[in-house]
Amino acid sequence: MAVELIKTACPLDCWDCCGMIAHVEDGRLIKVEGDPDHPITQGTLCGKGRKLVDRYHHEERVLEPLKKVDGEWQPISWEQAFQEIAAQMQAARAQYGATAVMHHYDYGSSGLLKVLEQRFFNLFGGFTDTVGSICWGAGLEAQKYDFGYAKSHHPDDLAAHTDLFVIWGRNVSVTNMHMMPYLKAAMKRGAELVIIDPLKTDLSDKAVKQLQPRPGSDGALALGIARHLLDRGLVDEAFVQEHAVGYEQFAAYVQEWTVERAAEVTGVEAEDIRWLAEQYGSGRAAATILGLGMQRYANGGNTIRLIDAVVAMSGNVGRPGGGVQYGNQVHKFDYATLMADDKPKQYRAFTKVTEADEMLAVQDTEEPVKVLFVTRSNPVGQLPDTNKTLQAYATVDTVVVLDMFMHDTGVIADYFLPCTTVFEEEDIMYSSMWHSYMTYVNRVVEPRGNTKPDWAILQGLARELGFGHEFGEGDSVHQWMEVALKPLEEQMGISREKLQREGIVQAHEESVAWSNYQFGTPSGKYEFYSTVAEQDGASALPVYEEPVESPYRDKERAERYPYHLLTIHPRRSLNSQYYHVLQMPDRPVVEISPLIARETGLRDGDLTRVYNDRGEILGTIKVTDGQHKRTIKIEEGWWGIKGTMLNTLTSNRRSDLGIGSTQYDCLVNLAKV
Ligand code: SF4
Repeated sequence: MAVELIKTACPLDCWDCCGMIAHVEDGRLIKVEGDPDHPITQGTLCGKGRKLVDRYHHEERVLEPLKKVDGEWQPISWEQAFQEIAAQMQAARAQYGATAVMHHYDYGSSGLLKVLEQRFFNLFGGFTDTVGSICWGAGLEAQKYDFGYAKSHHPDDLAAHTDLFVIWGRNVSVTNMHMMPYLKAAMKRGAELVIIDPLKTDLSDKAVKQLQPRPGSDGALALGIARHLLDRGLVDEAFVQEHAVGYEQFAAYVQEWTVERAAEVTGVEAEDIRWLAEQYGSGRAAATILGLGMQRYANGGNTIRLIDAVVAMSGNVGRPGGGVQYGNQVHKFDYATLMADDKPKQYRAFTKVTEADEMLAVQDTEEPVKVLFVTRSNPVGQLPDTNKTLQAYATVDTVVVLDMFMHDTGVIADYFLPCTTVFEEEDIMYSSMWHSYMTYVNRVVEPRGNTKPDWAILQGLARELGFGHEFGEGDSVHQWMEVALKPLEEQMGISREKLQREGIVQAHEESVAWSNYQFGTPSGKYEFYSTVAEQDGASALPVYEEPVESPYRDKERAERYPYHLLTIHPRRSLNSQYYHVLQMPDRPVVEISPLIARETGLRDGDLTRVYNDRGEILGTIKVTDGQHKRTIKIEEGWWGIKGTMLNTLTSNRRSDLGIGSTQYDCLVNLAKV
């Protein structure tokens, strides 16, 4: 039987948004490869992408709707699931209003049509939404204040024009591997790398220098650089006078800092701070590539603003080979119509990071949460402070989880509704993290078992709830796509047919971000001083404050818990999505520096307790050279039901901007078991 090749795209929440080709033989998915026609990802996939096939076939995948009866799962029909869940939603709405139904979601499974969830809840008459982000929210808000929104350069521009890459907190080969060919091409021309990261990265050995600030102190490092730029007259006066507002106020704030003070706060040598400032101010094109860890602190949004300010004052905004690569929010879809946003509704929003506290605060009032929907996410595993999440979710009458596997949130649900994988769906894939190419997702195989696409599950519920017609009957996939693509069709001629025909289309053609110096801020300029931040109750200027769990801010806590814990993205999994597919050890590896090994007496292979006043886990010690001396590294993504609840250690405080998480703002101690 001939093998059929069908184009699709990787749905994982990742910078790269790879084009993929699925191989199907006799109706069976046999493997997936990178699509060589994708201009950025050019035919390669990482291991996570290739293993999507294993997830599709996996024996633990849930293939029938399930209902928990007396603590045991029982298969039920879709009709029964729709009828019972709809009845409980209606009863909750009748007694307490529509906000008694809550929706928690994230981006575990990407795709344009996933936002139909919002359409469903809006048409229901409202809901309790969950907003903010446990990932990059604080940084997005920061770039909104500075630039108007986040925008990145086309990687071809960086490959051709960048002289210096400052890779600040991103392990490129692990989380953004398709950036590597562009870095290599630039380095072949003579471009240099500087790494700023408390951890050793795969590129550390290729860098001319690596600076290792104390976790959470990156904003102070930026201020030290800014001060040296000022002192040495290395500021791009033309940019700050013509294309920016608030520079004088920011410069006055920078004068409160010295390079020596920045050195003391960060632990980076003053000489190295001056050296990096000289690099930024040298007139060479410097591209700053930010990761997603620095904003997961109480000061995280301001950290990104301070780094933006260094890039701006050194003349690296709007020039070829420069810029701050953080996100790329350039896809102009008509989400509002797709989500039926104008529908009158009762609406309340909880912040994802603190939703447990907010739920607990309303449960004994007239406006409780009675039905909780969880889609595209595993909040019990991934939200900070697991014990609080479990406590809050236990107060809800009905928990409904839409997913593929019985993860930590699945096991506490009352109904588990099995959804399809990307191979069983038609959609449009794009990412607002890096490049702007959209890929048409063709359906590759029929849904396994009794699974349904998320939209079809919601459609069944909508029908039962009496608004099926408004939601969209039958296979409305093309219609929904056309609604969302309307602005792109009008402005750039990108219709649904064109995208389906061509497979991959660029949604935004600007190669150098902000090259026309027309920023998206209220002033139209780069804003060192942001009135929007001021209106939001934040500091108008970017400022440095210590992380909450810091030896400089809370000495007593730092004495009890003397080590910084970084729960970083795993190399082989996308958050918690691959635990069951991989052959994992029983417990996580706890990587410590030789100094921590000396202080604790722990050695390679020792079993250790990692603990603080919120919780504890067990792990196996590995002593590692090259990471910040008071920092512990553990890869996240573990499942509690398989033994490790890593987020029992992290706090559910919010970041300063953008209602983000502070999961890296975390001190712990170790004890040998
Ligand atoms: S996880 Fe990222 S790099 Fe890997 S295949 Fe998916 S999009 Fe590509």
